[in-house]
Amino acid sequence: MTNRSLLTRSLQSVWHPCTQMKQHEIFPLIPIKKGEGVWLYDADGKQYLDAVSSWWVNLFGHNNPRIKAAIKQQLDTLEHVMLAGFTHEPVIELSEKLAKLTGLGHAFYASDGASATEIALKMSFHYWRNLHSGTPGKPNKTKFISLQNSYHGETLGALGVTDVAIFKDTYAPLLMQSAQMPSPDFRLAEADESAEDFALRCAAQLELYVAQHHAELAAFIIEPLVQCAAGMGLYHPVYLAKAREICTKYAVHLIADEIAVGFGRTGTMFACEQGNIQPDFICLSKGITGGYLPLSAVLTTDDIYQVFYDDSTLRGFLHSHSYTGNPLACSAALATLAIFESDNVLQKNLEKSADIIDKMQALTNLPIKHLRCQGMIFAFDVTTKNAQFSKQCYQAAMQQGLLLRPIGNTVYFMPPYTITEPEIDFMVKMTFDAIKATA
Ligand SMILES: *Cc1c(COP(=O)(O)O)cnc(C)c1O
Repeated sequence: MTNRSLLTRSLQSVWHPCTQMKQHEIFPLIPIKKGEGVWLYDADGKQYLDAVSSWWVNLFGHNNPRIKAAIKQQLDTLEHVMLAGFTHEPVIELSEKLAKLTGLGHAFYASDGASATEIALKMSFHYWRNLHSGTPGKPNKTKFISLQNSYHGETLGALGVTDVAIFKDTYAPLLMQSAQMPSPDFRLAEADESAEDFALRCAAQLELYVAQHHAELAAFIIEPLVQCAAGMGLYHPVYLAKAREICTKYAVHLIADEIAVGFGRTGTMFACEQGNIQPDFICLSKGITGGYLPLSAVLTTDDIYQVFYDDSTLRGFLHSHSYTGNPLACSAALATLAIFESDNVLQKNLEKSADIIDKMQALTNLPIKHLRCQGMIFAFDVTTKNAQFSKQCYQAAMQQGLLLRPIGNTVYFMPPYTITEPEIDFMVKMTFDAIKATA
């Protein structure tokens, strides 16, 4: 099947995500046939370096032999069973391992990031309800706060705490209200202000709000260290420490949305580690299966878990999804964690990250600012008057065999951890050319 006939059929039958479909009259879809390492191959055999890890999910390359083998092995024994009333080894083993890694217990599963956000929000709300039920005069903690420019997914609950206008504004009448706290994204700092001072200033503003509203606040949800969808907005880890302090002081849950930044992306297994904090809830997805199968998890403290543990059914968390704890997805996640255990991934990434940012210095000859890096996330902002820059840069890079997906004027790399030296050279060189041609 050629590219041409596949894309015609796709346009007639598939509604693609995050897309104004009419734009495909001008920008053709790319039918992908296979993947290998950091490379994707289209139906005509042209190859593209996947510099965005297929929307931030892939950690160890496409067609990874170890993850593939684990799924195949699981496929021969049990593909799926419902998790209400039943359990199985892959979900138990994964939950034990995630508990050990996060310091939080009792993993609750779903299939995508937005559902993990929903679960954490509902659990937090329900915790306060259980805790205060039957106690007259107790606070009514039903509200949520998040950061400016935050992204937590696009189902209605998650969109309620997301702050990206193009995704949110249309649906505003359907959404629960939440308040947004000043973002510590360092790009928003004053010219003479350090990242740390700016983070502390934002934390002080957070405290002012929380001090006033804590009686009605259930939780503060944040993307630790990097607001990815905001255009890789990095911030100083002291903000995490302060947020933890403030939430503890005023009895507000801290929900860490590590859906994008978890599993080594920021340099540590989880971004929260860099602020030396333990959140009350952690949301995980994306890289959890190495980019193989949809899976998400929410883990929480034993204290929170205990407030649901009761003779009353209604005090339990009755939420569910059909594919909760799917054994195939869990086996992919276990294989992914096994690679972290055996291959010294975090240490190797440290060296690779330094190498990539070093090679990226060549890009400073272009009109760019805020060249930045956090672990295996790399970004900079292009100064250009071209209002079509993001689309044209994407197109130009694709022509050269590089998959980039600029967010506005922010160009970023979030490559699979397995990217090699020559592949890094290719990625940086083709990025240079694409920006040169379109900025
Ligand atoms: C991608 C993402 C989500 C949503 O995950 P989906 O699987 O796309 O629903 C939520 N939070 C963050 C921080 C994300 O990057």
